[in-house]
Amino acid sequence: MPRSAIVLGAGMVGVSAALHLRRRGYDVVLLDRQGPGEGASFGNGGLIQREAVYPHPFPRALAELRRIAGNRAIDVAYHPLALPGFVSPLLQYWWRSEPRRYLHAVQAHARLIVTCVDEHLALAAGTEAMALLRPIGWMRVFSEPRLFEAALAQAEAARRDYGVNFAGLDNQTLAAAEPHLLVERAGAIHWTDPLSVSDPHALTLAYARMFVEDGGTLAIGDAATLQRVASGWRAQTTAGPVEAAEVVVALGAASVQLTRRFGYAPPLFGKRGYHMHFGLRGNATLNRPVLDAESGFLLAPMRAGIRLTTGAEFARPDAPPSPVQLERAEPIARRLLPLADRLDATPWMGVRPCTPDMLPIIGRMPGQDGAWCAFGHAHQGLTLGPTTGRLLAGMMLGEAPFVAPEPYRPSRFSRGSARRFGKLAAEGSDGSAWRLTCSRQADRAVRRALLKTLAVATLAWPRAASAQGEARPIRLIVPASRAARRASSC
Ligand SMILES: Cc1cc2nc3c(=O)[nH]c(=O)nc-3n(C[C@H](O)[C@H](O)[C@H](O)COP(=O)(O)OP(=O)(O)OC[C@H]3O[C@@H](n4cnc5c(N)ncnc54)[C@H](O)[C@@H]3O)c2cc1C
Repeated sequence: MPRSAIVLGAGMVGVSAALHLRRRGYDVVLLDRQGPGEGASFGNGGLIQREAVYPHPFPRALAELRRIAGNRAIDVAYHPLALPGFVSPLLQYWWRSEPRRYLHAVQAHARLIVTCVDEHLALAAGTEAMALLRPIGWMRVFSEPRLFEAALAQAEAARRDYGVNFAGLDNQTLAAAEPHLLVERAGAIHWTDPLSVSDPHALTLAYARMFVEDGGTLAIGDAATLQRVASGWRAQTTAGPVEAAEVVVALGAASVQLTRRFGYAPPLFGKRGYHMHFGLRGNATLNRPVLDAESGFLLAPMRAGIRLTTGAEFARPDAPPSPVQLERAEPIARRLLPLADRLDATPWMGVRPCTPDMLPIIGRMPGQDGAWCAFGHAHQGLTLGPTTGRLLAGMMLGEAPFVAPEPYRPSRFSRGSARRFGKLAAEGSDGSAWRLTCSRQADRAVRRALLKTLAVATLAWPRAASAQGEARPIRLIVPASRAARRASSC
């Protein structure tokens, strides 16, 4: 009897897992409520980031926190009223970003990242997908010499420790490499190993076509219909019910909505991002993707035009799109490159599925036989889809793993093992105050950091709130007594 699996979610991660399982002889149904690659995998920056050995840490410098709290930055924005829902995961994220803990995350992240180009090429070799993978790398351009010097030092460390290749360009070499950049810059780092995908959606579709050609089944349906049955798992599709012995959850940012029902609720949180395509004026060209380091937006030449992608936005999952970062980035992008008109009627929005320890969740779901997780790839899901697919398929078959899987194990977030630091709730009949309650698990360092963060937020709040159209002043209250802390549920 062949082994069987339902893979829920046909983004880059789910498609890659389904393809690897099929190639190992599994009967696989790949289920999504829409076509393959129409979630976050549709509109990302298209970078297969061999250089991304350092995952994005939570900022710890006070000046940086203040800049972000002001809510006028281009790289990070937030909906003030969404913050209560982010307090616990963001505090864990902050805690995990402490330099020694962050080093652990870097080492574990790097072990996946070093495989990414080879794993994509192994799937794409000899197929139509190869034409989408451009070996041109990408550039990070700097205006500030001081920041450029610091980035060069970090790039040297990445080369020494993780074999990342790059070229440092001064302003003249940069002008020669990208002759249509309009403003002189201090310099650039050209990461030379990464692949740039000319159409990320087409790449996911190409891998999905390989899956079908190899005998896999694509189905349309809602993952919320998943239920346990005697033979394993059942889900409803537009073609009727499907059953399999095993199930893989690869629903990106929506994964926890499902796993929670089965008793597993890791602190997954979403960072939204937007894109818009532009034409170029005259005979201008852009030879490779360019990230404006100080503003945090990317300009990538794609089949559809020059794609501008934005940094992170924190919002409630059901809040309508609010592409303010795109509005802020566009004038700067126009000063950087001779952009012509916008090419899309409305901005595209996608959600990066993030974890507080900056590592994806790959492996057996705690407490559920035959259920597996493959989500939480944050800023690098396009990059790590094929690596995750191969790793997970190997684990499901009990093969010796090609990357030690321990740091990504889902059980690190099981009930009882996760840290919860506190809770933020609106207070007062007019909702004009916030009460932040520290949990008993929060140690002194965390409490100190909370107070620091609160001080920054109190200073920045009036500006942040009015930037989001909320004119009401908001007071922040920290309960002082232990009794108050005990009374609260954290
Ligand atoms: C602006 C932006 C730029 C980015 N740039 C890059 C980059 O350059 N390089 C990189 O590596 N990564 C990048 N990323 C991150 C990357 O896009 C994501 O990490 C990746 O797409 C996640 O893939 P996934 O398969 O886990 O999720 P998704 O692609 O979101 O797939 C999840 C799938 O689940 C389906 N689904 C959800 N709920 C249900 C349900 N109830 N029933 C059925 N189906 C359901 C969705 O329809 C979707 O198809 C970027 C992200 C953004 C937003």
